[in-house]
Amino acid sequence: MIERNADLSGANTLALPARAERLARPASEEALAEALAARAAGEPLFVLGQGSNIVLDGDLPGLTLIPALSGIEYREQGDTARVTVGAGVVWDTLVADTVTRGWRGLENLSLIPGTAGAAPFQNIGAYGVELADVLDSVDTLAVADGRPVRFEAADCEFDYRDSLFKSRRRGEFIITGITLTLRRHGPCRVDYGALAARFAGTDPASLDPATVRQAVIEQRRSKLPDPRELPNAGSFFKNPVVSTAHHDRLKAVWPELVAFPHRDGMKLAAGWLIERAGWKGRSLGPVGMHRDQALVLVNHGGARAADVRALAAAVRADVRQRFDVDLEQEPVLLPGR
Ligand SMILES: Cc1cc2nc3c(=O)[nH]c(=O)nc-3n(C[C@H](O)[C@H](O)[C@H](O)COP(=O)(O)OP(=O)(O)OC[C@H]3O[C@@H](n4cnc5c(N)ncnc54)[C@H](O)[C@@H]3O)c2cc1C
Repeated sequence: MIERNADLSGANTLALPARAERLARPASEEALAEALAARAAGEPLFVLGQGSNIVLDGDLPGLTLIPALSGIEYREQGDTARVTVGAGVVWDTLVADTVTRGWRGLENLSLIPGTAGAAPFQNIGAYGVELADVLDSVDTLAVADGRPVRFEAADCEFDYRDSLFKSRRRGEFIITGITLTLRRHGPCRVDYGALAARFAGTDPASLDPATVRQAVIEQRRSKLPDPRELPNAGSFFKNPVVSTAHHDRLKAVWPELVAFPHRDGMKLAAGWLIERAGWKGRSLGPVGMHRDQALVLVNHGGARAADVRALAAAVRADVRQRFDVDLEQEPVLLPGR
C-alpha cells in the first residue's frame, strides 16, 4: 500500500518536519521487488529504517521505502548459532532475544536505536564492538533490477561507522536481512570505556551476556538523551582520525586530550573537541549540543533542517579553528543535494 504525502516528522528521531511524496512499508522481498518494479523511470528512491541516523532536509520526492521484513531465525550448531534477521526487526529487540537465549556477541550493542537492516549501513558499534565482529552476510535487493544479491561480510568494506552501502555503492542496494554468528561460550568484551571501570577486576570469561547488556543499558540511559524526550540522532559527528604528528602537537598543548590509537594515526574523541570549543550545553536557535554529551545535537523544539545545518557548521568551524581538525557529520542528510 502506498501512502501519499506521508508525514515523516514522527519517523525521524530528530523530529524534523518533512513529508514523503509516496511511502510504502513492504513486508516481504516480493513486495519490495514489486515496489521497485512499479517505480517510474528516474523516480527518486529513499530507504529508511527508524530514522535515527538521518537529517531530513526537506520533503522526500518520489518513493520512500521502509522495509518491514520481520523474523529472527536461529540455526544452532554446537557452540555457535547462525541468526538470520529481517531488515525491519528493531535492533534492540534482536539483541534482547539473543541475550535471553544465552548467545553472546551482541550484548555491547544493546539499546542502539534503529533496525537490523540499517545496522550494516554504518557498521554500528559501541563499547569496543561493532557489527562487523559478528556479521556473516547481508542480503539485499539490487535497486537497478530487483534481483537478490548477497554480500559476505568480507566484501562489505566495513570501516569505522562506514561500509560500501554508505560509501562506494550508496543507493544501489536495499538491505532485506542480515545473518550473524553468535557464540554460546567465551569471554565478554568489557575492556572499553565505562565497561572497563564497571567490571575492573572481574574475569571477562565469568560474565554472562545478560549482565553486560544490563550494564550497557544503565550506562547508555545515564548519559544519552532519549530521543522520545529530547529529539536527537545520537552522535552527530564521527570521531576524527588525525596523524600521530598532529595528535602529538595537540597533546603538547592539551595534555588531557582524549585519543585512541587507530590504523591511520590517532582517533580523537569528537565530544572532547566540541566541549573544549565551548559548545557543550550551548544552543543556537532551537537546537543545541547536549549538556551532558557534547557530541549529541538535540532539538529543543520546533527545529528545522536549516537550524541543524547552522549549528553543525558553527561547531565544525570552531573545532577547525581551535584544533585544525575537520569534523565529519555522522547522520546522513536526506534528500541530499
Ligand atoms: C540516541 C541514539 C543513540 C545512538 N547510538 C549509536 C551507537 O552507539 N552506535 C551507532 O553505531 N549508532 C548509534 N546511533 C545511530 C543509529 O542508531 C544507527 O545508525 C542505526 O543503525 C540507524 O538505524 P535506523 O533504522 O534508524 O536507520 P535510518 O536512520 O532510518 O537510516 C540510516 C541510513 O541507513 C539507510 N538504510 C536504512 N535501512 C536501510 C536498508 N534496509 N537498506 C539500505 N539502506 C538502509 C538509510 O537510507 C540511511 O541512509 C544512535 C542514534 C540515537 C538516536
